[in-house]
Amino acid sequence: MYVVGRYSDILSAQEAAAFLRSHGLPAGVSGGLYSPSDGMWGFPTTALPYRVLVARKDQRALARHLLAEIDSEADEPATNWEAQSRPDLARLDQELIPPCPACGGRLSPTDELCSACGLAVDIVELMLETHGPEGLAQCYPDPDEQVHLSEEEWVALDLPCTACGYSLAGLPFVGVCPECGCRYSKTIEPS
Ligand SMILES: [Zn+2]
Ligand SMILES: [Zn+2]
Repeated sequence: MYVVGRYSDILSAQEAAAFLRSHGLPAGVSGGLYSPSDGMWGFPTTALPYRVLVARKDQRALARHLLAEIDSEADEPATNWEAQSRPDLARLDQELIPPCPACGGRLSPTDELCSACGLAVDIVELMLETHGPEGLAQCYPDPDEQVHLSEEEWVALDLPCTACGYSLAGLPFVGVCPECGCRYSKTIEPS
């Protein structure tokens, strides 16, 4: 599991995970204190206890790119997790940056306009088109932030049933959806 965002409240984390899923990226929420007995989330003990997770390393850059997108559309002021979800283009390897699509000129990581022809360029988009999500992996300060969930964390992991959308928070790693009776597994891999 790879952390792609951290949130102070469960609703924002669930919203972010749902947004990723709507873009075809399986994502789940972990963190906070979930009590299976009363089905409630307890009070968090750290500032940003709710983590949005994806299963594979190659899903991470795209997920963070999408989260940064929600963030740029939100009217709310900056929060802590935002800094983590925005790619730090200064970390890009100059050699990997594709040339200007209009004139073929060399682009720098921080260019918003091609210095040769003046075309407006989006380095993030160009990198995604050329190298795929992994192209942006180097832009994050914690490229290997991988978490291994404990049994309790797997139970608390909030994922919808892939068949009916019922929340599987509070249920074991594998089992049968109480709502529709389908077998599920909380691997966050597309089935
Ligand atoms: Zn150009
Ligand atoms: Zn179901």
